[in-house]
Amino acid sequence: MSVSIKKELAHFMDGLRKRNPHEEEFHQSVEEVAESVFPWYLDHKQYRDAQILERVTEPDRVIIFRVTWEMDDGTIRANRAWRVQFNHSLGPYKGGLRFDPSVTLSVLKFLGFEQIFKNSLTGLPMGGGKGGANFNPKGKTDREVMRFCQSMMTELHRHIGEDVDVPAGDIGVGAREISYLFGQYMRLENRWSGVMTGKGASFGGSAIRTEATGYGCVYFCEHMLNEHGEDLEGKTVAISGSGNVALYAAQKAMQKGAKVITLSDSSGFVHAPEGLNPEQWEFARVLKEQRRGRLSEMAEQFRDISHHTGIRPWQVPCQVAMPCATQNEIDESDADQLIRQGVIAVCEGANMPATVPAVHLLRDKKILHAPGKASNAGGVAVSGLEQTQNAMRISWSREEVDERLQKIMRQIHQRCVAHGKVNGRIDYVVGANIGGFQKVAEAMLAYGVL
Ligand code: GLU
Repeated sequence: MSVSIKKELAHFMDGLRKRNPHEEEFHQSVEEVAESVFPWYLDHKQYRDAQILERVTEPDRVIIFRVTWEMDDGTIRANRAWRVQFNHSLGPYKGGLRFDPSVTLSVLKFLGFEQIFKNSLTGLPMGGGKGGANFNPKGKTDREVMRFCQSMMTELHRHIGEDVDVPAGDIGVGAREISYLFGQYMRLENRWSGVMTGKGASFGGSAIRTEATGYGCVYFCEHMLNEHGEDLEGKTVAISGSGNVALYAAQKAMQKGAKVITLSDSSGFVHAPEGLNPEQWEFARVLKEQRRGRLSEMAEQFRDISHHTGIRPWQVPCQVAMPCATQNEIDESDADQLIRQGVIAVCEGANMPATVPAVHLLRDKKILHAPGKASNAGGVAVSGLEQTQNAMRISWSREEVDERLQKIMRQIHQRCVAHGKVNGRIDYVVGANIGGFQKVAEAMLAYGVL
């Protein structure tokens, strides 16, 4: 990047930081995109004159509201909830809801911003949005979660609709929460519509939605490795997280002949040096499904698994790393450790799991690095397919959905390759950012000054 482009980028980022004080996660996600697209943007005067980058970094609207609910013991609680409707140039706002105490406006703006380009990369007609609440479903009873969801939807329902904004799940929002939210929407609106995705299979949900993000991540990883003369078979894969993304990435990687050697949760990670077997994987799945216990139970149950408290799995030598937990879970020293221990590819299942210095280090050391907006797009892609099935009043089989998912992941990979050629190699971060950004920019330009 030339000195003058660097200067302009720094000036743009300064302005963004001033307009959005204290929103570190949001700044980080914008910086990553802006860094990639700036040279292209400055070369295309029409986009620059139309101030597309300034406009696309400002959400269309942010809805902030209180969610009041009652605990089983009668205590009244009030949480804060948000829906960030970031950009609907390519279709109705689309993106998950996150329930976690770490949720802030900054976190949801970063996720909503990422979602714009991720959804664009899928090739499906979806805009970008995100929402959630600083509510912790952990340790709450079913009834408490139900009351929270019903109260949240009592406000949210007036802002969403199948052609307006279609929420789904994210961290802390799974099938149970989606069902409570969707039930309350129907009660308030008195009509069935495909207003949410991730629904149960018996009421309009799509086959493979639960598995889609993890499966898609492995499909993408395989394309990326194949493109570079490598394969997943026999590779050691370190995975962080133990939710749907991590579990189904692990399952698919195992089916492809890889050795999945780690999973993690907030207490630490489990290490299976020989690779998890199907029985051990099933144990982890049931642990998650029953919302009880910790991964450490795996070490008590199986002699070839050890548990390591309070540390992330990046200590363990692996050839492929799949961060599938949450944002900023790989910092510069983690990336350095991974590189020194011989990692060849980092494929992101989570959103923005690597810090900016970690991303730079991976790039400088020429490690294959698939950014989440490309490699974890399988989840929202199958959400898009759920919307299509709902609109057509049909439902596709597992095989049909999986085939479409595989095709979409292949096309996203091709798009990254087409836009990511930098100095004779493929930079997947650049490819995903430019590949996702261009379509949104074209649409915004075509709509005129709005
Ligand atoms: N929360 C998921 C994501 O980060 C899925 C969103 C959706 O299905 O709308 O992409």
